[in-house]
Amino acid sequence: MAEIRYRSTRSSGKTFSIGEALESGLAPDGGLFLPLSFPRIEIADLPEDSFASCSLEIFSRWLKGTEFEDSFESVLKDALNFSVPIVELDRNVFVMELFHGPTLSFKDFGARTMARLLGRRLERTGKRITIMVATSGDTGSAVADGFAGIEGIDVVLLFPENQVSRVQERQLVVKRPGVHAFRVRGTFDDCQSLVKSAFTNPELRDVSLSTANSINIGRLLPQMLYYMWAVKTLGSNDLQMIVPSGNLGNLTAGVFASLSGMATSGFLAAHNKNDFFPNFLTDPSASFKPSVRTDSNAMDVGAPSNFERLSSLLTRDEMTGLIAAVSISDSDTRLSMKRIYEDAGYVSDPHTAVGLEAQRNSEGGQRSKGPSLVLSTAHPAKFPEIVSEVLGINPEVPSQLSKLNALPTSCQTIDADKDQFAQVILELAHV
Ligand SMILES: *Cc1c(COP(=O)(O)O)cnc(C)c1O
Repeated sequence: MAEIRYRSTRSSGKTFSIGEALESGLAPDGGLFLPLSFPRIEIADLPEDSFASCSLEIFSRWLKGTEFEDSFESVLKDALNFSVPIVELDRNVFVMELFHGPTLSFKDFGARTMARLLGRRLERTGKRITIMVATSGDTGSAVADGFAGIEGIDVVLLFPENQVSRVQERQLVVKRPGVHAFRVRGTFDDCQSLVKSAFTNPELRDVSLSTANSINIGRLLPQMLYYMWAVKTLGSNDLQMIVPSGNLGNLTAGVFASLSGMATSGFLAAHNKNDFFPNFLTDPSASFKPSVRTDSNAMDVGAPSNFERLSSLLTRDEMTGLIAAVSISDSDTRLSMKRIYEDAGYVSDPHTAVGLEAQRNSEGGQRSKGPSLVLSTAHPAKFPEIVSEVLGINPEVPSQLSKLNALPTSCQTIDADKDQFAQVILELAHV
């Protein structure tokens, strides 16, 4: 089979290689990259002995004939060197823990893999690039960890002041080679706008800019791996996948897996009070809204960027056939954390709890005849304040976190101002 090419969500004339798509982040017309075709993957034929060997097989289909054909094996081995346990919480209700990587969220899958692939490409071309990342919490630390010390890459992290947890902030501002953290006086959406503005700012035309937000297709491809692995290990063709969602990147990766041949009874996007997507599925005229703050802050996204991908990939009927979405309040999220702890002795972080509550709400609905899989997106120790408030216990602190306290930090505070931000980038890039 020939190499898989990529197109923009906004036009399909010009196509791109995966290396080009990874490096530029955004298509030249401002759209997001999407695969032109999906390799057909038979879940039954995948190896079942380990997540690693299953992943290698999936990536070999996706990256065959590309510049990464010879390197993806060592990249995956190095990037995804942590476990992916699936826990049975209740009869037919499973939780897939995606938080055992170095920064304790599922974003380690995408960020670490993407960083290493891009590093291979820059090694070959000798180019230097500046990667900008707007983060509402977990993306930033995953990207900072994933890209730190990779030759040819400077990382600029933007996070909203006072809107990330204490632990998240600590993870963001730890000093790392090639990583520059900025606290922005504004919201996550302001941070995301700054990133978008830099791409079109003529003052920055001499800087090679990219992004490692889930705008970047390189983040999404590795996230397909665990969906397929879950279907493989649970041996179910009608698994309902419940995805705690914000920017809709994780959900889009699941849709990629489904378009690649993975059977599922459907996806349930579990949102907090930032409810654009649930609204859209019932009312096509619903529009983006400013983000509101919740206890599950990594999902506080008013204008999910991957919505553009979903609408380009699926017709409305296909979308509503494959995906349902709900919005869960903070108070129900807290009740859910409490209930799961009391019933099953399971400590869940607030993002996962949004998913668990969505799962419970969907019971009895037509979609839930078969088993359910809730994607657990973060470790509870990232959110010790709310865990101790709701459960009255302190979550166990994994070594990934405890060792951060001894490390030096570095961070600057800036306004949500496009021109000021352009100056910051210019200085860093030394052009
Ligand atoms: C980023 C994040 C999400 C949302 O994922 P999207 O791909 O943006 O929809 C959910 N939970 C946690 C813990 C996250 O860090």
